[in-house]
Amino acid sequence: MNKIRLFVDHTLGEAQSVPLNKDQAHYIFSVMRKGIGEKILIFDGNNGEWEASIEEISKKSGLLFCIKQTKPQIMPPDLWLLFSPLKKVRTDFIVEKATELGVAKIIPVQTKHTNADRIKLNRLIAHAREAAEQCGGTYIPKIEELQKLDEVLENFPPNRRILICDEKLEESEVNLENLKKGKWAILVGPEGGFSEIERNYLKGLKFTFSISLGPRILRADTAAVTAISLWQNYLGDW
Ligand code: SAH
Repeated sequence: MNKIRLFVDHTLGEAQSVPLNKDQAHYIFSVMRKGIGEKILIFDGNNGEWEASIEEISKKSGLLFCIKQTKPQIMPPDLWLLFSPLKKVRTDFIVEKATELGVAKIIPVQTKHTNADRIKLNRLIAHAREAAEQCGGTYIPKIEELQKLDEVLENFPPNRRILICDEKLEESEVNLENLKKGKWAILVGPEGGFSEIERNYLKGLKFTFSISLGPRILRADTAAVTAISLWQNYLGDW
């Protein structure tokens, strides 16, 4: 059976002791029935993956000991995903898939037709951690609080380009193959699509490129997965 693989919110290194919180102890001890001396894999999002032995364990707490590094830290390409939050399950899906596919940062944005006026940040962070545990990743994308799209764009770093997924386009403005690698963001609109004002504003920005994802209208979660996959294929680390 595969070893348990857990994210821990604690800096890892050679011979480091790592305390377990109640949920982790419960999972390792009560659910997975592991005991003292057994080994699991842990990562902290910054220092690669480590094999650790269980030094102490009970239903409510425990202690691990880092034995050796089993994977170096692997950072994703410098890609941000800007998306408009959807219903809970679909938002969770986007965060999970973006983590698996490899993005550095996730920014939920509120647009004219966005239905959600809040997100549950802790829930999304938990989903990203779980996705990284499951896919063997050593990095957890940073997730920001919900922000207004125009505010995000006003403060946007000038050296980062944005790929806009525009369902109204018949053909992409650019061929991804011809774009330069580097700092990028992908923007996916809400279920209601972008408003005309938003579309014109986005097109007027110097650092944006609009792409089509084919002749069918995709749901926003499908569009996010598709756009990240395409970007990864041409400009990322696949
Ligand atoms: N309600 C809109 C569709 C929105 S789809 C309409 O009927 O026109 C949600 C988002 O997914 C869009 O804003 C866009 O960012 C992305 N998307 C969906 N299908 C797409 C396509 N074929 N090409 C590019 N982007 C697409």
